[in-house]
Amino acid sequence: MTSCVFCSIAAGAAPATVLASKDPAFAFLARDPLAPGHTLVVPRRHAADLFEVTDDDLAAPCCWPGGWRRRSWSSSTPEASTS
Ligand SMILES: [Zn+2]
Repeated sequence: MTSCVFCSIAAGAAPATVLASKDPAFAFLARDPLAPGHTLVVPRRHAADLFEVTDDDLAAPCCWPGGWRRRSWSSSTPEASTS
């Protein structure tokens, strides 16, 4: 397992409630949400900080079907699952 929690989740080695996954990024519910539906969208490849995230990484989730956003708001309890 990698020391990066995001890479571990991307590899399926750490639990997360994954809402959507389509290269080059994926979305999952935050483990410690600040608000109901708190969702993180991160690139599948490792990025040490936001400056290593490319425009393509950030643009991709905008093109995903909107269902994953509705699922994030309807999910009130993050449960351990990887899918
Ligand atoms: Zn990483």
